[in-house]
Amino acid sequence: MASNAAADHDKLSGKRVAVVGAGVSGLAAAYKLKSKGVNVTVFEADGRVGGKLRSVIRNGLIWDEGANTMTEAEPEVGSLLDDLGLREKQQFPLSQKKRYIVRNGLPVMIPTNPIALVTSSVLSTQSKFQILLEPFLWKKNDSSSKVTDSFVVESVSGFFQRHFGEEVVDYLIDPFVGGTSAADPESLSMKHSFPDLWNIEKSFGSIIVGAIRTKFAAKGSKNGETKRSTGTKKGSRGSFSFKGGMQILPEMLCKDLSRDELNLDSKVLSLSYNAGPRQENWSLSCVSHNEAQGQNLHYDAVIMTAPLCNVKEMKVMKGGEPFKLNFLPEIKYMPLSVIITTFTKEKVKRPLEGFGVLIPTKEQKHGFKTLGTLFSSMMFPDRCPSDLHLYTTFIGGSRNQELAKASTDELKQVATSDLQRLLGVEGEPVFVNHVYWNKAFPLYDRSYDSVMEAIDKMEKDLPGFFYAGNHRGGLSVGKSIASGCKAADLVISYLESCSNDKKSED
Ligand code: FAD
Repeated sequence: MASNAAADHDKLSGKRVAVVGAGVSGLAAAYKLKSKGVNVTVFEADGRVGGKLRSVIRNGLIWDEGANTMTEAEPEVGSLLDDLGLREKQQFPLSQKKRYIVRNGLPVMIPTNPIALVTSSVLSTQSKFQILLEPFLWKKNDSSSKVTDSFVVESVSGFFQRHFGEEVVDYLIDPFVGGTSAADPESLSMKHSFPDLWNIEKSFGSIIVGAIRTKFAAKGSKNGETKRSTGTKKGSRGSFSFKGGMQILPEMLCKDLSRDELNLDSKVLSLSYNAGPRQENWSLSCVSHNEAQGQNLHYDAVIMTAPLCNVKEMKVMKGGEPFKLNFLPEIKYMPLSVIITTFTKEKVKRPLEGFGVLIPTKEQKHGFKTLGTLFSSMMFPDRCPSDLHLYTTFIGGSRNQELAKASTDELKQVATSDLQRLLGVEGEPVFVNHVYWNKAFPLYDRSYDSVMEAIDKMEKDLPGFFYAGNHRGGLSVGKSIASGCKAADLVISYLESCSNDKKSED
């Protein structure tokens, strides 16, 4: 076994791979490739690593401007955390199961089990029955009987409505998708946004039955594994961050990359593929500190993790001819502002313990304008001095695209006004920080099949080109990492097959 791994390492050691983008997906890919002995070079347009992960430590405060927490649902995440020695830095939120939804202007705790659902005031009695009786009451998608699978483009809203009714869509699904992707359930494609549930319906019909059976099946296989190994149930502990914020993850992923291997301030402008003797067929050029950098180095493969809107701007050549990317569809992106505020504890009259609160679109009638707020220092008390509360509020998304672009002053008022209604904050915040992401999330809308087809076409027509990141297979940090790791595996298979082909030619 060990000698096999050493042989693989040797086989790959002369190979060179360029990774474009130093967000978590690119860095996870680079980390994996380097650990297999491949020479990697990462190109990042920004002056820092992390992409949509960005933590700030200032004036005794710690806050995240991008992703705040992640989960370990994907096996690739657990392996990386172990390999990077990040387990001891993992930070689990206090009372993370206490999450709130606004109903009739007030925060109500989201039920986390069937008994809590029955007693909760988040849904009407009729909707509670509809959930409990879903195995018998769910309706088939009418369109699926008329058209072939690939043409069925069902919205998230349509899917959940068939299974659980309108109120569940309005008061659970709408705030959830608003809070996790800044989108709305009507625009999102079910197939691309919730592929697991989409497949559960295909196999079991009922979501409740499918979820229970899948859970039992997973438990059964885990029990089998536990008998064989002494592994703990690390993946089941929910959301987490790290001491000092999420930024530590990208920093650890690139800590073994040398200065030559990690090129910051290096925006890739063009890529060129020239079919040669199946080696180092790729070259690329970038701009660094406003100076064009001709790259003399050549690569055997490229992993692209830049957002597709940036890829569309790149010039790609194939065999000396332009390879036009005009088949890449325009992607819609959701704009988002993140407002960090602190208030002295005595000014917060009704503080809530827990993770945070989400606001359904329907609750805008009560004057709410934000998508929701994370109770950052309730989750992680070391994020600010003990006499303060630190909050992270999200504004904009598809619900309010114009407001996302508003000035810091205006957004401070908007965030404070919602916090006043929800938690009884009084007066002005002690501290305010504002970050605007004009393209926070790609929208997995109902035409997203065409985006996936275009990615497949790029990979098919450009040998040695692989695309990874949050435009493919999920928006979360965990899914982006998994996407980067999968691309690294594909590159390794590709490089090995090139080596084998070359040997048989020799
Ligand atoms: P990115 O992080 O976008 O990385 C792509 C990189 O490519 C960037 O660094 C960019 O500068 C670089 N690049 C672009 N063009 C070029 C070029 N021409 N040359 C070189 N480099 C280039 N997920 C969660 O799981 N939990 C959360 O709590 C959460 N909250 C979020 C909150 C916000 C405000 C945002 C914006 C996102 C949040 N997400 C969350 C989503 C998650 O953070 C992202 O989907 C994920 O980090 C994306 O990683 P990525 O590597 O695919 O892309």
